[in-house]
Amino acid sequence: MLEFEEALARVLAAVPAPASENVSLNEAAGRLLAERIRSPLDLPSFDNSAMDGYALCAADVASAKPDSPVRLRLAGKVPAGETFAGKVTAGTCVRLFTGSPLPLGADAVVMQEETRAEPNARGEVLILAPVGPGKNVRLRAEDVKQGSTLAEAGELLTAGRIGLLAAVGLTCVPVGRQPVVGLLATGSELQEPGQPLAPGRIYESNRIALAVVLKCAGAVPVTLPLVPDVLAATSTALADAFSQCDAVVTSGGVSVGEMDFIKHAFEQMGGELQFWKVAIKPGRPFAFGRYRGKLLFGLPGNPVSALVTFLLLVRPALMRWQGATDVSPSVRHGVLAEPLVNHGERRHFMRVRVDSAGKVRSAGGQASHILSSVAAANGLVDVPGDTTLAAEAAVPVLRWD
Ligand code: AMP
Ligand code: MG
Repeated sequence: MLEFEEALARVLAAVPAPASENVSLNEAAGRLLAERIRSPLDLPSFDNSAMDGYALCAADVASAKPDSPVRLRLAGKVPAGETFAGKVTAGTCVRLFTGSPLPLGADAVVMQEETRAEPNARGEVLILAPVGPGKNVRLRAEDVKQGSTLAEAGELLTAGRIGLLAAVGLTCVPVGRQPVVGLLATGSELQEPGQPLAPGRIYESNRIALAVVLKCAGAVPVTLPLVPDVLAATSTALADAFSQCDAVVTSGGVSVGEMDFIKHAFEQMGGELQFWKVAIKPGRPFAFGRYRGKLLFGLPGNPVSALVTFLLLVRPALMRWQGATDVSPSVRHGVLAEPLVNHGERRHFMRVRVDSAGKVRSAGGQASHILSSVAAANGLVDVPGDTTLAAEAAVPVLRWD
């Protein structure tokens, strides 16, 4: 039985090199950059005003005070988006707004609140306070220099990064191609929701839940028909799934029972099974294999085990496939509000709920068929075998949401 870290390393080593494609920035949210992006522009690309106010020569107003203001001649007005053809010379100023280009000759902006218009002398402005050179001026390139790195290959395109790329005029970015992942659920007891349950049958719930986490991981799920526990049907379903997808995620049928056909069917079609047991709970039976440059992730059927193994072993692979450098789940640090007890030998990834104050509690029953605690959980705590983590212990919570 493989240790979890060894299993993860073997999965990641088998992931094909990422391929890239260009997408419009409008479509880029959540994608991973395939290349380093350098800025084609300085940002800001011209000196401009940080305030509504007046551009002037700082030296003119060094002595300005509310009771002895400096009087300047108003030489013009530059709304944001326009430019000033002339020059600010000694004794003059130009009306500016936030974002207006700084006219030539000016070296500072005094904010409107520190000025007074002269009711009797139109065309003049009284300056009530001094401003240092450079004050209220946003300098060209102080944010981003042309040619500097805006984002690195493998980084996630977040709202902030997309906004930055748009601000330098980019409309398209190279991103990692998203793997298309077939979803198969095996089990003769499974029934599609939507009709009354026949005796002994259960509603199938793994494909819909796995489709959600697949999309969150940036993959494109393809939901395929249910597969009964019959070797021939399993082989046909796997062959069909591999013919249309880059990877196949199955649920159920990977354990040791005589009705568990995934491993056998996969090997029969020429797939190379790499391992099928990992020393974690939930999720000991987890089959991983390669087939013609494509990957099989055979998850256990229990919905809890399927989701947990997906998060721990499949999500990182899908992220790497798209070129992610950091594939670890996000971690939130919390403090246990109650002990977490693992009486078993295997390391147990326990379902927990961490509240907004960082207090961590068990999300409910921890047996692998208890679905209500998956629904209540927002994370997992890794509890080593035969271990009790005491109340008040600081724990990293692997984020589930
Ligand atoms: P298996 O891994 O095939 O032995 O299944 C383990 C348990 O999970 C059994 O109780 C199955 O009925 C249940 N199960 C398997 N697949 C699904 C599924 N797709 N949806 C809901 N329950 C499932
Ligand atoms: Mg089964």
